Amino acid sequence: MEQNSKPIDQTRELLSQAVIKNLKMRGMDAEYHETAEEALKAVLSQIPEGSSVTWGGSMTLVEMGLLDAVKKGPYIVKDRDTAKTPAEKRAIYAEQTLCDYYLMSTNALSRDGQLVNIDGMGGRVACLITGPSHVFVLASMDKVTPDLNSAILRARNTAAPANNIRLSRPNPCTKVGYCCDCQTPDSICNQIVITRRSSGGVGRIKVFLIGESLGY
Ligand code: SF4
Repeated sequence: MEQNSKPIDQTRELLSQAVIKNLKMRGMDAEYHETAEEALKAVLSQIPEGSSVTWGGSMTLVEMGLLDAVKKGPYIVKDRDTAKTPAEKRAIYAEQTLCDYYLMSTNALSRDGQLVNIDGMGGRVACLITGPSHVFVLASMDKVTPDLNSAILRARNTAAPANNIRLSRPNPCTKVGYCCDCQTPDSICNQIVITRRSSGGVGRIKVFLIGESLGY
């Protein structure tokens, strides 16, 4: 840690050390990067040329330029947004589940190393749980919460309403800015997944903690 860095940066880095230790205890790998630019370089350097790569919806990936970099890189890219029909989308999803690398963020993570994610259709959380050989999770330190309950609250009351607004979903959270626990067919909160431990081998899930604000 640099002696002259700002106290808030020092706080983030100190907190990251505790989170990394706890993620490793849960069978995940983890590392900290002060900036999105450094994290981007680290991720790209850890995906071998020719690997198949795909991702789940994430503003973090967009904001840090990772999706653009992957699309331009020496990889076999599986992008569901290129599908022209629902059948094509389904076929690409099947390919996504067998990709070498899956990129995503997390809606929240607790200081003790548990990931919390909310999904509508469930494709993103399904790939987190099993399927792709490696899962890289890019997460701003803003998403770290003191405990599991506060991680769930963050995912439900901060991330989910913001994603509803981004996706123009006509759900009650978009009118009030917090979760109203709706039961609408348009709800994007059908699956709430807590990743307590990584399955599929030690380090299958690797978390890149980032000391900058990214996504929500
Ligand atoms: S459960 Fe409904 S109200 Fe709550 S965040 Fe999800 S979509 Fe919005």
